Amino acid sequence: MTTPLRVAVIGAGPAGIYASDLLIRNEEHEIHVDLFEQMPAPFGLIRYGVAPDHPRIKGIVKSLHNVLDKPRLRLLGNITIGRDITVDELRDYYDAVVFSTGAVRDRDLNIPGVDAEGSFGGADFVGFYDGNPRFPRDWDLSARSVAVIGVGNVGLDVARILAKTGDELKVTEIPDNVYENLKRNQAKEVHIFGRRGPAQVKFTPQELKELDHSDTINVVVDPEDIDYDAASEEARRSSKSQDLVCQILEQYAIREPKDAPHTLQIHLFENPVEILEKDGRVVGLRTERTELDGNGGVNGTGKFTEWPVQAVYRTVGYKSDAIEGVPFDDQKHVIPNDGGHVLQAPGTDPVPGLYATGWIKRGPIGLIGNTKSDAKETTDMLVADAAAGKLDAPKYTDRDAIVELLDERNIPYTTWEGWYRLDAAERALGEAEGRERKKIVDWEEMVKHAREVPVVV
Ligand SMILES: Cc1cc2nc3c(=O)[nH]c(=O)nc-3n(C[C@H](O)[C@H](O)[C@H](O)COP(=O)(O)OP(=O)(O)OC[C@H]3O[C@@H](n4cnc5c(N)ncnc54)[C@H](O)[C@@H]3O)c2cc1C
Repeated sequence: MTTPLRVAVIGAGPAGIYASDLLIRNEEHEIHVDLFEQMPAPFGLIRYGVAPDHPRIKGIVKSLHNVLDKPRLRLLGNITIGRDITVDELRDYYDAVVFSTGAVRDRDLNIPGVDAEGSFGGADFVGFYDGNPRFPRDWDLSARSVAVIGVGNVGLDVARILAKTGDELKVTEIPDNVYENLKRNQAKEVHIFGRRGPAQVKFTPQELKELDHSDTINVVVDPEDIDYDAASEEARRSSKSQDLVCQILEQYAIREPKDAPHTLQIHLFENPVEILEKDGRVVGLRTERTELDGNGGVNGTGKFTEWPVQAVYRTVGYKSDAIEGVPFDDQKHVIPNDGGHVLQAPGTDPVPGLYATGWIKRGPIGLIGNTKSDAKETTDMLVADAAAGKLDAPKYTDRDAIVELLDERNIPYTTWEGWYRLDAAERALGEAEGRERKKIVDWEEMVKHAREVPVVV
């Protein structure tokens, strides 16, 4: 172990930032952290997942600024660990490595027709509307009727963005290409489908309620879709949040329809079984009606419906990618771990000096706030291992050694100071149009602003 202890945290989303904060504030050891990020800008899914019309959540970035503004913490962006620098190489520079690499891709949905044109991954659409440079800049929004599969908050985000008008979203940080596409959006009806009932949906009350805040959206629920069995009643009693969700759905089901140009209908007890296609294009979604089985599960009824939609968005969850040189559980799509230590495989001994936190540790569920308690559990383990002498000292202890390696490899890395420059450029673009920020999408342009020098590609 070196003094100060040197830790590399991989992934500057909320989990990585909270873990870095806890480490640099540790009172037993002086700990210095290098926070590596593959994107030119930090903040992970706060920047590239949270919907643009959620400025309150995006505001969390302000409090994370205070964390990153510390001398013991250094951001090194535009570096993909496993590609630009291997994990084995990192271990020559750090006493410990914490992986907080999150998730960015859609989990697979295996139903026929999933590859038809017009069948979209929700994560891809999120990447598009949130201006992630890795995702397409144009989107086919010609469908008048759209189906969204999945009853979680990402499904609500996708449905809400599809049901709002481009002009409603122009006040947010969306870049020009996203606005131009959304302005041409033809969707008049958006249908969300879930196979179970109100007591089983994964929405949170605030997000569900918020659907109704737009004057252009009439939110509809069929009273036939409100049903509970004994297990559902128990679920309501044991979770205040789930009970609130049920109450909101009931309200939507009994009220008079709102006069609005777009309809957003939440269909429950409809299990999507096939995406219908004609000449390779989506023309509908086939669902099977389900009913409660008494235990909060559902059984198919054999009654099928074909919904004439021209696009289907699959929002059935995210999944993480493996990092070269780090154990990975291909079934659960997480790094195997015992609450923080990386394990070679579930049930085996920890790999010394390697840790995991956030979505890559426990799977893609939970809110930004949950990554904080996660980070505490992981960093406590790391600090205890340091105190117990379980960490091997690295070969290079000089803080600048890693920067020399980056320079040697001509990697145009970005820094925290660079983020301030990119942030200022985005704010200036936004201010010119009376909004807080307008995102820069192009990767090279982001790097150029962050480094203030032209980047040779
Ligand atoms: C569409 C969507 C909307 C959401 N909306 C909300 C919301 O409104 N409110 C809320 O509280 N939560 C929301 N969440 C949940 C929230 O985003 C997550 O809880 C949180 O971001 C998980 O944090 P993380 O740090 O584990 O992962 P991430 O946020 O995914 O961060 C991981 C970081 O690691 C980087 N990385 C990955 N691989 C490498 C590598 N090899 N080398 C270097 N860097 C790497 C990534 O670029 C990324 O920046 C939303 C999630 C999604 C998907």
